[in-house]
Amino acid sequence: MLKLYNTLTRKKEVFKPIKDKKVGMYSCGPTVYWYQHIGNMRSYVFADILKRVLQYNGYKVKHVINVTDVGHLTSDDDTGEDKMEKAVKREKKTAKEIADFYFKKFKEDLKKLNFTEPDKWPKATEHIKDMIDMVQTLIDKGFTYETSDGIYFDTSKLKDYGKLANLNLKKLKAGKRIDMKEKRNKTDFALWKFSEEKGKRQQEWEAFGRTGFPGWHIECSVMSSKYLGEQFDIHTGGEDHISVHHTNEIAQSETAFGKKPWVKYWLHCSWLLFNKGKMSKSKGDILTLEKLEEEGFKPLDYRYFLLNAHYRKQLDFSTEALRNAKNSYERLKNIIAEIKDDKKINEKYLKRFEEAINDDLNTPNALSVLWELVRDKKSEGKIKTIEKMDGVLGLDLLKKEKKYIPEAIEKLAEERLEARTNKDWDKADKLREEINSKGYIIEDTKKGYKIKKE
Ligand code: AMP
Ligand code: ZN
Repeated sequence: MLKLYNTLTRKKEVFKPIKDKKVGMYSCGPTVYWYQHIGNMRSYVFADILKRVLQYNGYKVKHVINVTDVGHLTSDDDTGEDKMEKAVKREKKTAKEIADFYFKKFKEDLKKLNFTEPDKWPKATEHIKDMIDMVQTLIDKGFTYETSDGIYFDTSKLKDYGKLANLNLKKLKAGKRIDMKEKRNKTDFALWKFSEEKGKRQQEWEAFGRTGFPGWHIECSVMSSKYLGEQFDIHTGGEDHISVHHTNEIAQSETAFGKKPWVKYWLHCSWLLFNKGKMSKSKGDILTLEKLEEEGFKPLDYRYFLLNAHYRKQLDFSTEALRNAKNSYERLKNIIAEIKDDKKINEKYLKRFEEAINDDLNTPNALSVLWELVRDKKSEGKIKTIEKMDGVLGLDLLKKEKKYIPEAIEKLAEERLEARTNKDWDKADKLREEINSKGYIIEDTKKGYKIKKE
């Protein structure tokens, strides 16, 4: 029996899909204007574990992750610059080139983390017509008003607005100051924005008699329901999305589709903290997977580090904590590499593992069960049991290690080979020093080079 904590009801609930053994699951995806950092990766590894646990329990999962390539403003209150347009100015490229580049990078990182590909990656810019149609439905139903800068959803028309976040609207009215501009209520949000001046943005469309672009929330309502139906089972995201983004997705979807609840289970992953705060691009305090690799960590060291904490607990990142995780992970793999037994599954351990993962994805407990199993001198059927467990954990526990050199080091070695071919000995020496300073040794061979860890 699988139990999941539902943000909507604030309870752990027994999971029951809308239809038989089929599950529709949507995860809010990346805004592709910059690298996704290891904090973002936490929310995707969590979604991956959830999907694998559902599959372990015999469900067939259809997973959709959106790609935000327009309309995500720098501030959650509908002001600020469009993040994509900001990147256009920064990189002097087209929005499409920027989106393609960071999306590709993002997918490469996910792959390294053993993330299982979703069934669909819909892009916002490829669903503009659907978004215009949904906004039109909301206009026709009388839930919107127009200001000089866009079309807004009037949240005062919904009795249950804010139910996901348990928002206290009275308190909100009295408290927190926000830039209201022409908004009627503090919680009203933009469905569609008008361009300040036609031709200044790269991405804009003609609709509602003006030139404009979609608000951020509308894309998730449109793309999730287009591929999963007007009512579906699970929606995931980071905890930062609860009070604004997901709250607004619910408001517009339940109004447009007329079905309640629009989504049955809402699951949120807590933050990865860094230097005492949320790791976030806007603060600038971010680390990428590539950076960790340059420091000698493997992507799966990071996955192991994440699985050691429950997804609903905030997790402090530090190099030291990651190093500890790396050491345990390597020890675990080394012990497993020595195991020789081909008996059938050890049901006792597998059952305990199952209880852990089915208790709201308790991966730290699941890992403890795994450790107990590998250390238990008397138990049999270890390999088959580990294989089954790894189907959920995705840690390549039975994969034999081949020599691992981070991509960044390989790149330096390639550059050095090129320098040597061009007889640029100075450059070659400098590159050797750089490789050494990162903890690797390069030796020249007849065919090229060999790299070793120091
Ligand atoms: P973004 O590209 O900013 O829209 O974020 C992509 C996903 O990462 C969203 O689900 C966010 O909630 C999540 N996220 C952002 N920062 C963190 C963090 N520090 N820890 C965990 N999840 C995060
Ligand atoms: Zn979303």
